Amino acid sequence: LGDRGGAAVTREAVDIAVVGGGLAGAVTAMLLAQRGLEVVVLERAPAWRWRACGVFTSPATVTALLRIGVTSTDLARIARPIPAMRVETRRGTSFGLTYGGTGLLVDSPVGLDRAVLDPLLLSMAISAGADVRTGVAVEAIRLPAAHAAPPRPGSGVQMTLSGGQELDANVVVGADGLRSLVASAARVARPSPLGRRTALTFHVPDGTALGGGPIEGRPMDARMVVIDQGYVGLAPVPGNRLNVGIVLASAWLPKLRREGAVGAAQGILEQVWPSGSTGGRLILDHVAGASPLGVGARRRGGVGWLLVGDAAGFLDPFTGEGIHRAIVSAELAAEAIWRSRRDGGTADLKAHDTAMRARFGMKDVVSRVTQAFLGRPILFEYVARRLAARPGLRETMGLVIGDLAPASRALDPRYLAALLAP
Ligand SMILES: Cc1cc2nc3c(=O)[nH]c(=O)nc-3n(C[C@H](O)[C@H](O)[C@H](O)COP(=O)(O)OP(=O)(O)OC[C@H]3O[C@@H](n4cnc5c(N)ncnc54)[C@H](O)[C@@H]3O)c2cc1C
Repeated sequence: LGDRGGAAVTREAVDIAVVGGGLAGAVTAMLLAQRGLEVVVLERAPAWRWRACGVFTSPATVTALLRIGVTSTDLARIARPIPAMRVETRRGTSFGLTYGGTGLLVDSPVGLDRAVLDPLLLSMAISAGADVRTGVAVEAIRLPAAHAAPPRPGSGVQMTLSGGQELDANVVVGADGLRSLVASAARVARPSPLGRRTALTFHVPDGTALGGGPIEGRPMDARMVVIDQGYVGLAPVPGNRLNVGIVLASAWLPKLRREGAVGAAQGILEQVWPSGSTGGRLILDHVAGASPLGVGARRRGGVGWLLVGDAAGFLDPFTGEGIHRAIVSAELAAEAIWRSRRDGGTADLKAHDTAMRARFGMKDVVSRVTQAFLGRPILFEYVARRLAARPGLRETMGLVIGDLAPASRALDPRYLAALLAP
């Protein structure tokens, strides 16, 4: 016990602290606890709540969820199969990406119910032995010096939690999303290379999208509609709903200020809705926003710390596969911590950075190239027409975007020539 301005301050020491109990934090904690390590998850929110996040994901995520122990019964509750993602340009060109899927749940892109998925993963972490503390925010972090030797009491990570409690840890995992305190403490956070963009997300009833009643159970494509200075993703999810995700460039900021998030969301929804539209009046939950949308990270691991999920960098939902990356980065993090213990207890986790670069570096290049095309409508239209006309090019693109094939395939000069040559 210490003393802070007369109030008693408790000081506690743990082995591994995970900041953030979203997807990445829950999976990291579960995998570490399964290996017998002491792990405490600190999650700011007292309970799950709808917030800006994504739901559409490739079959790679379905495989990853099954790999980490989600049962097929739970998968059926969480995920709704989607035959294809239909990309639509402003001039009316459209093409479908199937992500190599066949339409079966285990082999198909899906729309996820985050209200079920996120709490499920956190409960799996608890079952594995992790100590999950909700309603606890980390307010300040001091990381050990970069040259620190193997952990000894007092040489590790020091955290101040809401309520004034002090927590020491040998290792801290930053799973705290786009505005990561751990990334800031490590001085590795940097602004998104794609500029200041804003995202809005919410749900609408799905049947209305086709002018009818509920169509749960019937296969329904997702849509990615390019609009002026932005795009809108519509993905079917369980519960007769469509998730709407809107990403807007900074040119939209004055309109967003003028009309507010709900007004802007309603107006944009009207633009992309089928004719006779009432889409904008159907918003089921609050419009959750994120601004700025993306974030970069110079490094993802060092002495006493590492980053997973969005905290480790998130570019853009168009090609991002953030959900898949959250799970895989958690697996890589657990492996890095486990190996560091096995190899003599050093707390230097820069191997995690190397592993993340090897796994996702090339994909980030593809995402940036795609964004460069999106920002130039004539070029994007040209490429969209090529993809619409050529199934082989489309298939490779779907596999790369869905993290199902090495991203280098889309950067191969032969692929680029076939895509771009007149
Ligand atoms: C608009 C939008 C659309 C998207 N679309 C897609 C998509 O279609 N497909 C896809 O795969 N991905 C998409 N993504 C990305 C995807 O949602 C994220 O990559 C994924 O949710 C990241 O999970 P995470 O666990 O890293 O972060 P989060 O889910 O953000 O979890 C971070 C957690 O940390 C907690 N936290 C933060 N700070 C603290 C603190 N100081 N103390 C304690 N707790 C803290 C938060 O409360 C939160 O629970 C989208 C994202 C956005 C914003």
